[in-house]
Amino acid sequence: MKLLFIGPPGAGKGTQAGKVAGRLGIPHVSTGDMFRDHVSRRTDLGRKVDSIMAAGDYVPDEITVAMLSDRISQEDARDGFILDGFPRTEAQVASLDRLIGEDGLDEVVVFEVDEDELTQRLLSRGRDDDDEETIRYRFKVYMEQTQPLIDIYEARGVTVYIDGIGEVDEVTEQILSRLEA
Ligand code: ADP
Repeated sequence: MKLLFIGPPGAGKGTQAGKVAGRLGIPHVSTGDMFRDHVSRRTDLGRKVDSIMAAGDYVPDEITVAMLSDRISQEDARDGFILDGFPRTEAQVASLDRLIGEDGLDEVVVFEVDEDELTQRLLSRGRDDDDEETIRYRFKVYMEQTQPLIDIYEARGVTVYIDGIGEVDEVTEQILSRLEA
């Protein structure tokens, strides 16, 4: 089962992707987590992306695609995975199509959360790239570059819409039951 979880910053897709991946026994592939891991280990890649992420900008596609391609070619990802945070641009959709085929994704789970709720959540999370100005900027980047991807997957008939508001466990159950349906 190959899944993509997509939604605005703060929608809870990372938390849900981790839980659903655990339940389905497939890896949770989060490009954000992978980049943060590189930053904390001070690798060459981490040094390159640190300031880009702190500013709320997207890491260049060539870096992101190479890292993602490497990850999903590993043994544990052979039977499926949940992508979280990739693809984020139309160019990344084209890259993913080349890697797994245009019909490679079984379902795309779209998180819908109201913008005020999102800002509150992000402010209380307190991550480095979560100050108010950066949050606003990341929304803008999401709206311009990532939101349009939902139409692409909608046209392919693989979207499932989830209300991201609610208890974490309830949202998880909602996702699992919608995926079974
Ligand atoms: P959130 O879930 O809050 O949107 P992520 O943890 O997914 O945040 O990503 C954090 C940051 O990592 C992004 O703001 C961006 O700088 C970088 N990043 C993650 N995935 C990608 C991607 N697919 N393309 C470009 N940059 C990315």
